[in-house]
Amino acid sequence: MPQTKILLDESDIPTHWYNVVADMPNPPTPPLGPDGKPIGPEALTAIFPMALIEQEVSAQRWIPIPEPVREALRMYRPSPLFRAHKLEAALGTPAKIYYKYEGVSPAGSHKVNTAIPQAYYNKQAGIKRLATETGAGQWGSSIALAGQMFGLEVRVFMVRVSYDQKPFRRSMMQTWGGQVFASPSMETNTGRAILAKDPNNQGSLGMAISEAVEEAASRADTNYALGSVLNHVLLHQTIIGQEAQKQFAKVGDYPDMIFAPCGGGSNFGGVAFPFFADKAAGKNVRLVAVEPTSCPSLTKGTYAYDFGDTAGFTPLMKMYTLGHDFMPPGIHAGGLRYHGDSPLVSQLYHEGLIEAVSVAQLATFAAGVQFARTEGIIPAPESNHAISACIDEALRCKESGEAKTLFFNLSGHGHFDMASYDKYFAGELDDFHYPDSAIQASLANLPKVG
Ligand SMILES: *Cc1c(COP(=O)(O)O)cnc(C)c1O
Repeated sequence: MPQTKILLDESDIPTHWYNVVADMPNPPTPPLGPDGKPIGPEALTAIFPMALIEQEVSAQRWIPIPEPVREALRMYRPSPLFRAHKLEAALGTPAKIYYKYEGVSPAGSHKVNTAIPQAYYNKQAGIKRLATETGAGQWGSSIALAGQMFGLEVRVFMVRVSYDQKPFRRSMMQTWGGQVFASPSMETNTGRAILAKDPNNQGSLGMAISEAVEEAASRADTNYALGSVLNHVLLHQTIIGQEAQKQFAKVGDYPDMIFAPCGGGSNFGGVAFPFFADKAAGKNVRLVAVEPTSCPSLTKGTYAYDFGDTAGFTPLMKMYTLGHDFMPPGIHAGGLRYHGDSPLVSQLYHEGLIEAVSVAQLATFAAGVQFARTEGIIPAPESNHAISACIDEALRCKESGEAKTLFFNLSGHGHFDMASYDKYFAGELDDFHYPDSAIQASLANLPKVG
């Protein structure tokens, strides 16, 4: 019987992050200021420490991981690679299915991989507080934990709808010492202005980002931390793909296709980019980002310069976007409800080097339940997107008789998402395909630059 769990030693935790920029055929597009001109690194010093700004603009292939960061990562890394024998049998597919499980982190997802270095570099720079946003609560929990590890105060603006739906995510953040505010909040000018117009506003990631950025920009002791989208965040996540490469080598296998759920692009970049290096060197591997049909930035958005937040405080980034004032429907994969996507992922997609598909909500839950009933782990609703696309491919392999090697990133567990599973079982969830007319309306408000 081939191995079910493919494990590594702590000494196998990568010593460097991999920077995909070194292998991209074209240089990344620069962020632009409000005047439409490229901004320099100094424009970001009000909200980020210099070490992270340097990583943001670096073209160096390998960037060393500081020893205190590797030390902290040992708490839960290396994460296991599993062979999904039971799922394969249930599907009756000749394909081999593997998944990397990032739910072993204390907060339950891959997001701790970047929360730790972000807290570390901010502490080194003498910062006392971090302000951030969270949607479903995965990022907020991760940064609350990392803030506690390195002695930083953490203030989290949590999208109102999740604040109400996921009280235990809030309790987790508070347990790790974080302060949590429902966004829009009365803490910032942005929040107060939104509430003045609409006291029942349910919030969005774009609004919560505006609140956190406003607070960080207006206080010298406070910086901002972002859980996805930016180049340095994707960089930190590349330890996932590097570990997976070692794990596949250990069992003498290699993936034909890799699937990852895609919100802001960090877990996709984290698992896929190290394999992109192999692809750039001639290897045949397909990299597939999976997004919801209700928030289809790659598959239905436009490749254009847009703001990262609703209020327009962030620099303009060239990315696939649905428009910064796009209001995503209240689907249950909260971590995938973002109007844009990582500029690096967007550029690779635009150049045809990676692929993207979208999956409707009911299919994702059906896949997640099938996975839980075979493999045991209850996945986060976000992760269900990758599982669904991977199962579809395994079933195509069954038709064609191909024994492909399929691999997906199980980005987190769903222990705090059981209310969403309850709704699925009660038949209360539906599919939402964001109407093209609504996307067009939101895209009409794109900033006119670039
Ligand atoms: C946040 C999150 C995602 C999606 O975010 P990316 O920025 O695309 O990585 C996926 N899965 C889980 C469990 C998450 O918490």
